[in-house]
Amino acid sequence: MTDTFTPPTRFAVPGRIAVGNGTAGHWQTATLTEIRRETPRAATFRFAVPGWAGHLPGQHLMLRLTAADGYTAQRQYSIASAPDDSGHIELTLDHVEGGEVSGWFHTEARPGDRVEVRGPLSGFFAWPGDRAALLIGAGSGVVPLMSMVRHHRTRGLSAPLRLLVSARSPEELIYAREYGAETTPVFTRTAPPGVPVGRMTAAHVASLLDAAPPGGWEAYVCGSNAFAEHASRQLVAAGQPVDRIRIERFG
Ligand SMILES: Cc1cc2nc3c(=O)[nH]c(=O)nc-3n(C[C@H](O)[C@H](O)[C@H](O)COP(=O)(O)OP(=O)(O)OC[C@H]3O[C@@H](n4cnc5c(N)ncnc54)[C@H](O)[C@@H]3O)c2cc1C
Repeated sequence: MTDTFTPPTRFAVPGRIAVGNGTAGHWQTATLTEIRRETPRAATFRFAVPGWAGHLPGQHLMLRLTAADGYTAQRQYSIASAPDDSGHIELTLDHVEGGEVSGWFHTEARPGDRVEVRGPLSGFFAWPGDRAALLIGAGSGVVPLMSMVRHHRTRGLSAPLRLLVSARSPEELIYAREYGAETTPVFTRTAPPGVPVGRMTAAHVASLLDAAPPGGWEAYVCGSNAFAEHASRQLVAAGQPVDRIRIERFG
C-alpha cells in the first residue's frame, strides 16, 4: 500500500474497482526501487517483492493503490521481467492520458513508494519456454512478450522464438535497445530511413509462418482489442491454426 496515492478529483464518488473472483493468491507489498524511462510515454517500474513466488513469462498481476482515505484502484499489468530469484519484478506502463493508475505512476511515484500486488495470474498466456513461439505485439502489448524474449535469452533456450512488434515510431518502440535478430519492428506513423511506414501486413505474418519450425508455432498476440483482432485475422489467413493462437487484450 502507499500513502502517496491521491485519486484525481474528477472521481467525485470514490469507489472500489471490481476484480473477477477467478484471481488467486493474496496481496503482497511491493516496494518501488527503480524507474527507467523506455519511451516518452512508457517507463519501467522495478519493485522488490520479497515473497514473490515466481511467474512464467507472459503472466500478469493485479496491482492495487490505496489512498490515505482508503480509496483503492486496481489494474492488471503484465510482468516484463523474466522469471528469476532476485525477489524483484518489473512492470512497464504506458502513460494513458487521464489514466488514474498509470498517471500516478508516471507523475507521482518515487523509489521507496509501496503498492500491493497479487499474482501471478493467467496460465493461458504463459510461455514456459518449451515450444516454438511466434510473438506479435503492439505498443505496451510487447510487455509480456519481452518477458518471454528475456527468458529465452537468459536461459539460452533452444526453442525457436520470433517477435513481430508494432509501434507508432522508433521513438515509441518500447525496449528498442534490447531487440536482436529475433525481432522485426513495424512502424505505423514514422519509420527510420528506408523502412516502410504502415500496419503489420499479411506479408509480415506469412513470411514468419513460411519459416515455421517443424511442429509449427504457438502464437502469442498482445495489444489493444483492435490490434489483437487485426493480428489474429492475419495469422489465420496465413494458415496458423486458430487453436494455436493465444491472445491477451489490454483494451
Ligand atoms: C491482462 C492485462 C495486462 C495489462 N498489462 C499492461 C502493461 O503491461 N502495461 C500497460 O501500460 N498497461 C497494461 N494493461 C492496461 C492496464 O490494466 C490499464 O488499463 C492501463 O494502465 C490504464 O489504467 P489507468 O488507471 O491509467 O487508466 P483509467 O483511469 O482506467 O482510464 C483512463 C481513460 O483511458 C482509457 N484507457 C484505459 N486503458 C487504456 C489503454 N490501455 N489504452 C488507451 N486508453 C485506455 C479509459 O477508457 C479512460 O477513458 C493491461 C491490461 C490487462 C487486461
